Amino acid sequence: MKQKNIILNGIAASSGVAIGKVFILEEDDLVSVQKEVPADKVNKELVRLRIAVKETKEDLKQNYADLNRMLGENYAKIADAHILILNDPMIGKEVIDCVKRGNTAEFAIYTVVKKFSKSFDAIEDEYFRERKNDLIDVAKKVTAHLLGKTKKTLADLEEDSVVVAKNIVPSDTVSMRENVVRGFATDLGGKTSHTALVARSLEIPAVVGLKNISYQVKQGMPIIIDGNNGIVILDPTEETIDNYKREYEIQFSTKKALEQLKDLPAVTVDGAEIKLGANIETPEEIRSVLKHGANGIGLYRSEFMYLSRTSMPGEEEHFQNYIQIAKMMMPYDVIIRTIDLGGDKIAKLGLMEIGREANPFMGLRAIRFCLKYPEIFKVQLKGILRASVCGNVKVMYPMISSVAEIKAANKILEQAKEELRKENKPFNENIKVGAMIEVPSAAIIADLIAKEVDFLSIGTNDLIQYTIAVDRVNANITHLYNPMHPAILRLLKNIIDSGHKAGIDVGMCGEMAGDPAYTIVLLGLGLDEFSMSAAQIPHVKKIIRNVSKEKAKNLAERLLACGSMSEIETEMKKFKYI
Ligand code: PEP
Ligand code: MG
Repeated sequence: MKQKNIILNGIAASSGVAIGKVFILEEDDLVSVQKEVPADKVNKELVRLRIAVKETKEDLKQNYADLNRMLGENYAKIADAHILILNDPMIGKEVIDCVKRGNTAEFAIYTVVKKFSKSFDAIEDEYFRERKNDLIDVAKKVTAHLLGKTKKTLADLEEDSVVVAKNIVPSDTVSMRENVVRGFATDLGGKTSHTALVARSLEIPAVVGLKNISYQVKQGMPIIIDGNNGIVILDPTEETIDNYKREYEIQFSTKKALEQLKDLPAVTVDGAEIKLGANIETPEEIRSVLKHGANGIGLYRSEFMYLSRTSMPGEEEHFQNYIQIAKMMMPYDVIIRTIDLGGDKIAKLGLMEIGREANPFMGLRAIRFCLKYPEIFKVQLKGILRASVCGNVKVMYPMISSVAEIKAANKILEQAKEELRKENKPFNENIKVGAMIEVPSAAIIADLIAKEVDFLSIGTNDLIQYTIAVDRVNANITHLYNPMHPAILRLLKNIIDSGHKAGIDVGMCGEMAGDPAYTIVLLGLGLDEFSMSAAQIPHVKKIIRNVSKEKAKNLAERLLACGSMSEIETEMKKFKYI
């Protein structure tokens, strides 16, 4: 068959070129395809069904026990409700009867759920009507168990796979790191979605926001991902493949050249030393962090520990996880951000309030979640505190929007300390506490917040999203997501100046810190620490080593005086280093 070179345009989420074969990642779903089961195989089908139900029940019981331990009886009722659905004799009988009529267990579940959903839709009471979602959740869980061995998962990946999916959620990317993925392409997503961040930290080329690529590909089809230009090419011709192979080689030699900078400091030509840290999602990334010459971890997204599992990590697990990072990073600092669940990071822990919010990014996310469930929060804080015996661990609260939240979080931190004292478990009494500034209200009152903490770290991914009101995962409005908006520049200046006035350091761990296009502006605004995907460090370091702080300051001042993004762009183009 003749190759077609079909070019699709999306959003460049993670740079680099990947050449490989399509691996379609399917979502958990119900199975609507009818396949007849011969009469002599019906009993076998019923056994399959019974086993899948039993396995699902075991998962749910584990879920119940975890929720009960962490949140109490009331909350655990969520998992209990799922178990009740699974035990419902009427639903069970309908599914069994459907299998007995010669249908597969998957199709029987689909048929019965469809029928019951209709009756739920007819209920007037909103609460009961909503129970339909519980039924569908449970049905999907059983179906996933039924398909367990046959459905293609990330564990089935072969050597040169390029993953294509409607959407890849952060919990998928967690399992991705254990496998060989050359690149990925998705229908949905934006440049600062958490999935894109993970791709960058794993140095996997990715294009997102392609709208309907998942409908256009076939399993095993040749594909090229051009993460530099946000392009995907399906069925490439030999000539296109050769061109991209050459680009891949250039990319490789540039990377090698930048590696020479690894052990050199990030110092400007006029002697200002800047700290360059790395952002990580799991301890496995430390090797790459050290390879790229980071001066510490500026952001550990600790919530990734929760994403690929169905039970809560306990204090010991937190402690072990953090202490291994702290030890490996000695003598550099490690900033552990407390869990930022919610938004696009939804854990499969049965915390359905989070999963079903209409506006998850403005909902029960991050510190709000932790303050609502102090028991979950305290378990993590105790783990962090215990790891702080190493002396290089700091704790940071995400999504702070008021001083009251810092005070409330610190109160729980003090309780955690008190419990550890009683339990004779050592920790650093003077552990440094920081706040992320990623909500406009916090940016505006940065002076008040700076008085309550030991350091500030700017989370531009969210700060830009909330300030310009542009959803970070929505591909339709990604053109509006611009760090050089005058409002963002003003907020950054206010945060950095406020921190310095209070005598504390101000860092940045949003993607802006790792984008070489903004390095000089941020340097000029006075940022003390830049934290980014490890692979970006050499690029940013190269720029810092070639510019003077004085010149950078001058540029920042000129940009702050501009009235529009286009004026800012023109000023930036005029700028020459040194
Ligand atoms: C940010 O918002 O800039 C940030 C670093 O946090 P996250 O991307 O994990 O939301
Ligand atoms: Mg954030």
